[in-house]
Amino acid sequence: MSGREYFFFEQMADADGVVDGALLEISGGVIQKAVSAARRYLPSSTHVFEGFRAYPGLINLHEHLACPVFRDPQVEAGDGNSREWVLRRYGKAGRIFERLIPLLLAGKYLLPHLLPLGVGSDPTNLLRLDPWPGFQTRNLYCYNSWRNLLSGVTTVLDHSPYAPQMPLRLLRNKYALHGLRWQIAQFKLLLAVNKKRRLPVYIHLGDGIDSESAADWQRLVDAGGLRDDVRLVHGVNLTPPQLAACREAGMRLVWCPVCSERMFGRLADIPAAEACGLPLALATDAMDTGSFSLLEEMGRAAELYRRHYGGELVPRRIFEMVTSVPADWHADEARLGRLRPGCRADFFAVRSGGADPYAHLPGLNATEVAGVWRDGLPLILREELRTEAGMPPAAIRVRREEKFFLLCGAEAASVSGAERAWKKLKLPPLWERI
Ligand SMILES: [Zn+2]
Repeated sequence: MSGREYFFFEQMADADGVVDGALLEISGGVIQKAVSAARRYLPSSTHVFEGFRAYPGLINLHEHLACPVFRDPQVEAGDGNSREWVLRRYGKAGRIFERLIPLLLAGKYLLPHLLPLGVGSDPTNLLRLDPWPGFQTRNLYCYNSWRNLLSGVTTVLDHSPYAPQMPLRLLRNKYALHGLRWQIAQFKLLLAVNKKRRLPVYIHLGDGIDSESAADWQRLVDAGGLRDDVRLVHGVNLTPPQLAACREAGMRLVWCPVCSERMFGRLADIPAAEACGLPLALATDAMDTGSFSLLEEMGRAAELYRRHYGGELVPRRIFEMVTSVPADWHADEARLGRLRPGCRADFFAVRSGGADPYAHLPGLNATEVAGVWRDGLPLILREELRTEAGMPPAAIRVRREEKFFLLCGAEAASVSGAERAWKKLKLPPLWERI
């Protein structure tokens, strides 16, 4: 059995509140105690992080870790719906092979739920239509996992079910489908399969502003999809009565404001969703259409909300949407999202700053994240924190914007995978290895 470890932070903040002088006692990767403690009474083995604030690891509830990722410069071309965007992106071949897309999506999103298929079976591997040769799904998983971790995200719900074991925590008890325009039959099948188990079923809906995407609502209703196991992603064109009907049915909505704004110049009607009490989580979506980091997405969410709706989305509410809310939605799988006894010891640290700990995070540069722990073990650490953290000796030293970090533990394969994807696909550099 592993022993007890103690961490002291100047402050910690989770969705339940703020604690000054916070002592975390961790054993077996789980938080045993989280209390306010005087500096002089700390157990002698405590890792002391003076001047730092701890937050629970963020939860990014909508990602495509295997997507060919770079900021797609054509996203803002003004498509009416995401299907148009996909077809344009894949050019003529996209139009010619459109009839095969349901088959491809079945292989990508549905089949792996029913058969034990590994990451190598992801048909995305076959897509050589993109201008990036040497596309390797496993390496993209590594790249995008580290990209999330660097900004304090410790848990991701990846839309594809293939994801291999990663340093990042992946939520696995769920189904995901791409959308109703290509997968209505598959959606109906999944609803039938899921009658008893009631795993969450995530599906893109309202990912457009034209009549084609508006028709998705009727498709959802006709398929019997107004059910409490169905969770919608985007919801850009959903009307207040439709949002209220979702609430009535016990459904939930994941909004990805940067993606919606870039693709359609619109956001989901968040004031209406909030007014009717529809539960909301905030996520980045894939990097080609969304944000590079969830911290960036949080900042943009506040800014876009202000611009579109004229009011303020309070920072604490935004914080809940990436911690306690998604954690509660997946509480059957793991206890996450809070710095409380019984929760997994997933947390990250930033230098204390700003009077309001919740207002400090939105828009924060990811290089300000000084340390990230999962199950009480460090994965990323600013180099000068090595002593405080009692770090294991095995670590890869990297530079990020003139700051030095250590990527810790036995994650050499995932680090090299991330580097291979970054070099081959000319993705934004995550770090410079030194
Ligand atoms: Zn998506």
